[in-house]
Amino acid sequence: MANPDTSANQIVVYGASWCPDCRRAKQFLSSHRIGFHWIDLEEHPEAVSEVESRNDGKRIIPTILFPDGSFLTEPSNDELADKIGLVRTATSSHYDVVIVGGGPTGLTTSIYAARENAQVLVVEKSAPGGQAGVTERFDNYPGFPDGVSGAELADRIIRQAQRYGVEILQAVGVTGLVREEPFVRVDLSTGSSVHARAVLVASGSTYRRTDAEGEADLIGAGIHFCATCDGPFYKGSKNVTIVGGGNSGLEEGLFLTQFADHVTVLQAQPELTGSKLLRDKVLNHPKMSVLCNALVKKFKANASGKLESIIVDHEGKQVEHETAGAFIFIGLDPNTGFLEGTLKVDERGFIATDHMFQTNIEGVFAAGDVRSGSTKQIASAVGEGAAVAIQIRYYLESLAARV
Ligand SMILES: Cc1cc2nc3c(=O)[nH]c(=O)nc-3n(C[C@H](O)[C@H](O)[C@H](O)COP(=O)(O)OP(=O)(O)OC[C@H]3O[C@@H](n4cnc5c(N)ncnc54)[C@H](O)[C@@H]3O)c2cc1C
Repeated sequence: MANPDTSANQIVVYGASWCPDCRRAKQFLSSHRIGFHWIDLEEHPEAVSEVESRNDGKRIIPTILFPDGSFLTEPSNDELADKIGLVRTATSSHYDVVIVGGGPTGLTTSIYAARENAQVLVVEKSAPGGQAGVTERFDNYPGFPDGVSGAELADRIIRQAQRYGVEILQAVGVTGLVREEPFVRVDLSTGSSVHARAVLVASGSTYRRTDAEGEADLIGAGIHFCATCDGPFYKGSKNVTIVGGGNSGLEEGLFLTQFADHVTVLQAQPELTGSKLLRDKVLNHPKMSVLCNALVKKFKANASGKLESIIVDHEGKQVEHETAGAFIFIGLDPNTGFLEGTLKVDERGFIATDHMFQTNIEGVFAAGDVRSGSTKQIASAVGEGAAVAIQIRYYLESLAARV
């Protein structure tokens, strides 16, 4: 095999496909939209000497080379963040508004608040942009008649926030919130804390995955988590598949019948678990079929790297199910682990608020995907970001009136 070209002025990651730390480092760089050259040592054994020469003869991976000639071996995400120059320290100890999460909700609120001269800090655990930043394409976001890539939309919102002087910390998580009159103390994963007059929790949610073989590689290439978002891509397809027979899976499956000729629901349990009304609709639908006791084992790709079939364990037998697309609806987990019982949540763990987005703790608001009852769409995330900004403004004004 030819020696890979590493001459470009680029970060080079040496590793192997089986190495979890290599995957983590690649994922960290990708999520921050930082380009790098990947060299799999098993495919390029001639590059092993590069790694050994930097590690006293040892083959330690990942070894990451930077354009200035320096390198890191098995770096943690914190070390990587410092190396690539992410801003991880707040410039002030006190803010008007601190926002937990730099997704579309949090960034929208930050723009509104900063335009009104509030001092705003956004704390983002990973990379600003949230789920939007890692979404292939949005075709349902108003104003982009030809669609817009998630990365582009995220970059535009981030630039807009920066234009108004919003301070954004990256690769820093919020680890706790404590009411310390008259402020809320926000604890950070770096070990420090900041104080805010108002806090917005906009930490979003995470789609549950099956973790079956092939899934991670095919997300966006046949595997999806939102039928409203990606269903129209399957107009005229022979068969699409829903994984999960609860309310979301059945509702989304019915929705997909307007695009695909047939929709199959794969359900791991012996029966569908959605409401009776939905079950009846699905079971009587001429374009739908259901396979219960069906456990997804593997997602298979075709030669061009797109999903072509799903290997299912059906009552002990391996069945290959051909499909153009798979939509996974096995649950959505709110990103609220860091709150550990601080805020009131609903039965699924999403944060409960009143109609003014206030939580049970004074000065702490919640909006977007993490809020109980929200619609989990980008346009509504942005809408909630704007709406909660107005409520935060009223709250800050009420504080000023108290003194
Ligand atoms: C693959 C995919 C495709 C999608 N496609 C579409 C589509 O086509 N159309 C559509 O309308 N919607 C789509 N969505 C949904 C849409 O992206 C979300 O509804 C929207 O991003 C929610 O915004 P948010 O800001 O509330 O949450 P998020 O985007 O989830 O942002 C929350 C942010 O908070 C950060 N965070 C979490 N915990 C902490 C913490 N403790 N400290 C600091 N930061 C923290 C996270 O890292 C994240 O960046 C898609 C989602 C996914 C995953």
